[in-house]
Amino acid sequence: LRGVVALDGPSGTGKSSVARKLAAALGARYLDTGAMYRAVALAVLRAGVDPADAERVAAVAATADLVQTTDPEASTTTLDGTDVGAEIRGPEVTTAVSPVSAVPEVRELLVAEQRRIIAEALEQVGGIVVEGRDIGTAVAPSAELKVYLTADAHARAQRRSRQDAASGRAASLDQTLADVRRRDDYDSTRAVSPLRPAEDAVELDTTSLDLPATLAALLELVED
Ligand code: C5P
Repeated sequence: LRGVVALDGPSGTGKSSVARKLAAALGARYLDTGAMYRAVALAVLRAGVDPADAERVAAVAATADLVQTTDPEASTTTLDGTDVGAEIRGPEVTTAVSPVSAVPEVRELLVAEQRRIIAEALEQVGGIVVEGRDIGTAVAPSAELKVYLTADAHARAQRRSRQDAASGRAASLDQTLADVRRRDDYDSTRAVSPLRPAEDAVELDTTSLDLPATLAALLELVED
């Protein structure tokens, strides 16, 4: 792959798993921007700051030492020198991340860092798959390919709860569905870079596609 593939969409569409596989198949790097917002949310919680207190959230983000790496087989998220890959998937961070990511100063900081990581990957290996909510619209508007993944809310909640069960954090399907809907609502109505497809994005509905089928569809789009 030469250039940037932007993969956006709400949670539970299978974005992360397929983005990783796509990057590996293309010999490209992989950037999980959601992990970066989650790491800032964790820093906010660790500092004892209310995620709704935008001013203090911005201050925490400005001093957090965050490192996101981009090997598709082994990408890591480090906060203040320790790996936080497991902790950022926990329910506390999942609840705090939407208000944290709606703070304009947080987005400004992370978008700048994401652009730096993308430029570095393009220089080193020539290609990167970037996954998030605003990649096609804000982070990399000139990406070679933009795909917006969708799936109906029930399918997304089902995937989430299977993932949660696999990592030992079982929640009821109703609870997971409510959480998916709450985050969608928050992410698509915030003032800065709300979740929506870029005008030139290809929409791919994964409701009835499994991971290999989604990967095959994306590889076809890349080759087009
Ligand atoms: O993708 P993931 O579920 O890990 O993202 C967690 C949260 O981070 C999203 O619900 C959203 O609030 C925020 N996010 C964002 N912009 C991105 C990626 C994630 O606002 N590019």
